[in-house]
Amino acid sequence: MFQAFLIKYGEIGVKGKNRYVFEDALVARMKQVLYPVEGTFRITKEQGRIYVEAEGVFDYEETIAALQRVFGIVGICPVVLREDQGFEALSKDVMDYMHRMYEGVKKTFKVHTRRANKNYPLTSPEVNEELGGRILKEFPDLSVDVHKPDIMLHIELRSHHINIYSEVIPGPGGMPLGTNGRSMLLLSGGIDSPVAGYMVAKRGVYVDAVYFHAPPYTSERAKQKVVDLAGKVARYTGPIRLHVINFTDIQMYIYENAPHEELTIIMRRYMMRIAEAIAKETECLGLITGESIGQVASQTMSSLIATNEVCELPVYRPLIGFDKEEIVEVAKKIDTYETSIQPFEDCCTIFVAKHPVTKPNVNIIRKHERHMVEKLEELMKTALETDELIIVSQ
Ligand code: ATP
Ligand code: MG
Repeated sequence: MFQAFLIKYGEIGVKGKNRYVFEDALVARMKQVLYPVEGTFRITKEQGRIYVEAEGVFDYEETIAALQRVFGIVGICPVVLREDQGFEALSKDVMDYMHRMYEGVKKTFKVHTRRANKNYPLTSPEVNEELGGRILKEFPDLSVDVHKPDIMLHIELRSHHINIYSEVIPGPGGMPLGTNGRSMLLLSGGIDSPVAGYMVAKRGVYVDAVYFHAPPYTSERAKQKVVDLAGKVARYTGPIRLHVINFTDIQMYIYENAPHEELTIIMRRYMMRIAEAIAKETECLGLITGESIGQVASQTMSSLIATNEVCELPVYRPLIGFDKEEIVEVAKKIDTYETSIQPFEDCCTIFVAKHPVTKPNVNIIRKHERHMVEKLEELMKTALETDELIIVSQ
């Protein structure tokens, strides 16, 4: 069991002067995810390194699982942290480490030393060679491979202490939350939109969400499913401000007044309009949907023209080139899949046309909308008044 972790972060290392902003955002998010984990943690920044140290008893597995949900982290290395007490002390610590990790395993290894402390009495090659020799002697099952070792044993001679580690547990990558503004996710109960939210958040974007429900055609349980999904996504994105909008009157009006094959497209245009209105009020810089080219009639290139043109804000569609299987894979990884496939309808089937247009002509759609626009403007206002704000935390 290790008491400390060395956190490796990727892109944020190369951001020049912004680096401090990025590191601070990363540390802030790490504190947030570790808060509910059993244990007391100290997070420190030191010369391009971040360390998590646990004081006393803590939940090792949970700690790693929590850190694996922090965007910006590339690797989590369980590390032995030691004060510099001379080479013999280091050698003993390294042998203890190797016994604990690799007793009786048949593998290749390499010692890789980094000497940030320029006053250390041995050079890096000397440390590599001396420790490598001692390990070979003590562990008959291990052999050296300098090109593609199974075990890369890192020895970091820092100014204030020494790091010993060989294991790098992958993090989610991406950029720390809060370093790239905020965006509004159109969150339905399906498989795609939670994944879309996750993907944009991964680039450092805070995510708010809007869900359109149509009671009594969609059930309370369907709404709860969306809240549950937001909760799953929030494990990665931090608390999500979920706006629940009553869409029934708009949907009914469109159903009664628009050609049936255009129902979905017109309905989607109104969802986008409302989402944008809320986004603008809440300082969101874009909209996010789970659309992917050609997945359904309302997601052909022509249909996307029709849904896109009603918005001024950019619409981010991170799944645009994904196949369903690829989306499902991410959904499983982030644990939204099982919730998404629960059989609660996210939109009543009576509102879905049997033969929707796949190549809508946007001029015709506009013309058809023109007859309804006055009433729909009014209904949009009323719908916005139904906004129920739910703060969903992880
Ligand atoms: P999903 O799996 O995300 O529901 P889908 O494949 O079912 O997507 P559509 O139903 O055409 O696709 O919806 C396309 C996108 O529109 C969704 O990914 C989502 O972003 C948004 N959306 C659809 N229905 C709703 C809703 N009831 N509330 C909020 N957003 C919605
Ligand atoms: Mg859907």
